[in-house]
Amino acid sequence: MHPNPARCPLSWKQCFSRLSSFATLVEIIFLGTSSGVPTRSRNVSSIALRLPQRAEVWLFDCGEGTQHQLLRSDIRSSQIRRIFVTHMHGDHTFGLMGLIASCGMAGAAQPLDIYGPPDLEPYLKASARYSRMDIFSRVRVHAVAPGLVYEDQEFTVTCDKLTHKIPAHGYRVAERDKSGRFQVEAAKALGIPPGPLYGQLKQGKTVTLDDGRQIRGTELCEPPERGRQFVYCTDTVFCDAAVSLAQDADVLVHEATFAHQDAQMAFDRLHSTSTMAAQVALLANVRQLIMTHFSPRYAPGNAITLDDLLAEARAIFPNTLMAHDFLSYAIPRHRADQPEPAPVA
Ligand SMILES: [Zn+2]
Ligand SMILES: [Zn+2]
Repeated sequence: MHPNPARCPLSWKQCFSRLSSFATLVEIIFLGTSSGVPTRSRNVSSIALRLPQRAEVWLFDCGEGTQHQLLRSDIRSSQIRRIFVTHMHGDHTFGLMGLIASCGMAGAAQPLDIYGPPDLEPYLKASARYSRMDIFSRVRVHAVAPGLVYEDQEFTVTCDKLTHKIPAHGYRVAERDKSGRFQVEAAKALGIPPGPLYGQLKQGKTVTLDDGRQIRGTELCEPPERGRQFVYCTDTVFCDAAVSLAQDADVLVHEATFAHQDAQMAFDRLHSTSTMAAQVALLANVRQLIMTHFSPRYAPGNAITLDDLLAEARAIFPNTLMAHDFLSYAIPRHRADQPEPAPVA
């Protein structure tokens, strides 16, 4: 709907198209990008996936201090509907109880579904019991196993096991493909009477008109829009499961705790280097890699900095970005007939 026709400088059509592109936004907002401990400029792990068309936010991991990061962002905590937890290490989970408690005190009406490893439920139950907090009237906890985690009419969420010191899962959020827009004006111009025939043509079927003409629905529909795919892999050393989980994704967020020269530490602690993250992106043929979960040892002023990690990754996979706290990335839509975008240098 045109919000304020008297003051809006856009035509009705321009305005509508902007509103509808906003309405189908899928946006990633990084709330914490440091591994293990927070630093002055980076909090520990959490990512928000904002889905404004349904006024929902889905969180991935919830390190300590995530609710402070939410307060500093333009995300409304009351919109958090689901939380997906990769593994039980504290830099991914210690913010959960505080956030759940605050959401409860704010009187959030909607339930909260939390997905994670089997240890998550006993951990939350024990925390709730000892802090005398009733959270389970509105919080449901789901233990995940490789495969389907959640689905609705728009999205599916699947997960697979990564390779870390304790059980860890990567998640893939896949938007379902959307059929192309039906071109009503073109149908009218062909003299097709509005009514049930339009429904059949919208489905791509071929219909025969009273005058004998055959009309193919596919020729009156714009090309389908491919659903957007977001994959989150942390914490893990390079593993084949991450490659298959991320196959052809629009965005892969992959941990890169260490620089290439510290690969031995990565193997010992079962974390990734920048080059491992880039290899996963390359092998999985993703469109965009965003690295996160950086060791504080590469803060500015050290011998190796995050600029070096970025250069190492881009040498293998040019379309790489470094996450920083509050980085926002809107995943673009792609129609089936549009070419691949040029890499970001
Ligand atoms: Zn971690
Ligand atoms: Zn970990």
